[in-house]
Amino acid sequence: MPARLFRSAKADRNRFIVLYVSMTLGLLIAAGLFVYEARIIVADGLRDEEAFAVLGVANRVLHDLENAETGQRGYLLTGDESYLVPYREGIRDLDDTVLRLQQAAGSDERSLELVRRVEHAKTDKVTELARTIELARSGNRTAAVALVQTNEGKLYMDGLRQDLSLLLNDWRERRRVATEDAHQRLVFGSAALVAIAVLVCCLMVYTVYIQRRAFARVHAYSNALNQQAAQDTLTGLPNRRRLLSAIDALSDDEAASRRIALLYLDIDGFKNVNDAMGHSAGDVLLRRLAESLRTATRQNDMLARVGGDEFVLLATDCGDDSRLRELADRLVSSVRAVGDKEYGGRFAIGVSIGIATFPDRVQTVAGLLDVADAAMYVAKRSGRSTYSFGSSPGPGLSNVVKLTR
Ligand code: GH3
Ligand code: MG
Repeated sequence: MPARLFRSAKADRNRFIVLYVSMTLGLLIAAGLFVYEARIIVADGLRDEEAFAVLGVANRVLHDLENAETGQRGYLLTGDESYLVPYREGIRDLDDTVLRLQQAAGSDERSLELVRRVEHAKTDKVTELARTIELARSGNRTAAVALVQTNEGKLYMDGLRQDLSLLLNDWRERRRVATEDAHQRLVFGSAALVAIAVLVCCLMVYTVYIQRRAFARVHAYSNALNQQAAQDTLTGLPNRRRLLSAIDALSDDEAASRRIALLYLDIDGFKNVNDAMGHSAGDVLLRRLAESLRTATRQNDMLARVGGDEFVLLATDCGDDSRLRELADRLVSSVRAVGDKEYGGRFAIGVSIGIATFPDRVQTVAGLLDVADAAMYVAKRSGRSTYSFGSSPGPGLSNVVKLTR
């Protein structure tokens, strides 16, 4: 049993090591994956912000140019200087807006190329606007209008709108891809988190299961040990230790409601078997006697082997003395029968029995054993193969055991 228990404890320990190592590894890998995914999600977020900025600045370039053009048209048509305010504001902001567009587009080659083209178209358009305004201000409005009518400015604006539209489409697409990627990673991360949580829960349940199984084994083993410690190995009967704890368990108050008898048995002439046939033959006889005594007694009563050839019967709810006499006679007969049968009846085997009863003859349950033991010796002295009742000494008799047959 201990070897098996040790082996299973060792196997459980190995299982625990494997479980905890896999759990730790799993959690480390999961943590690594989360950090990796989190970095990409943050990068996706930055890309989205970048795209948002490019879209905003690109629209601003168009807005500034349209403001400048509207101012120029108004001035050419009316000669009203107040139209030059939106024109000047548009022109003033444009350089700065294009520079911001360049910075927002970052290092992407295609975007930088588009921004360069937008910048050229913007410069051409601004030059065309400035020339017409100059002509108009120097009194040559017809030449200025004629210059507008050449559609040179419109061509610049068409080219610029086309390039800006390409740039806007590019960055809108980037924004869409970044958002979708972040979304997918979030979904994947959440699913992985749920899977890891379920896995960790399963491992914990399994750990609890292994622990409970190990405890159950130890518990069963300790019960078996207790049983072994309370058992006589030769006959399988309860031993002295077990008998004493059974007597202890019968508290006086609780036991007062029923009559308890303790019968102390010592085999007569047992040593002769040992001397003549050897110790192992004596062992065989002891086993036969134990079986026979067990058969002659009630299952509820405890029959214990308390020494070499000494047995004790603890009978709770034993009935009156006539029942006890019947019981004692039955025990004497059953031992005799064994003696007659074994070794061709060569040995005169009998049994002397001392009987003590609670609460009438003995007033405490703890006193039963000593009184019955003393009564057994009286039975021995009065011829063997008989029984004797013993009582606790009365107040006047101090240590003397009063015995009756
Ligand atoms: P009496 O009639 O006065 O009871 O004497 P007896 O021959 O029965 O011998 P006694 O009760 O004085 O002693 C019991 C003997 O039993 C003493 C011991 O050598 C022997 N004995 C004790 N334990 C064992 C055991 O486990 N196996 C065997 N075979 N003999 C034992
Ligand atoms: Mg004896």
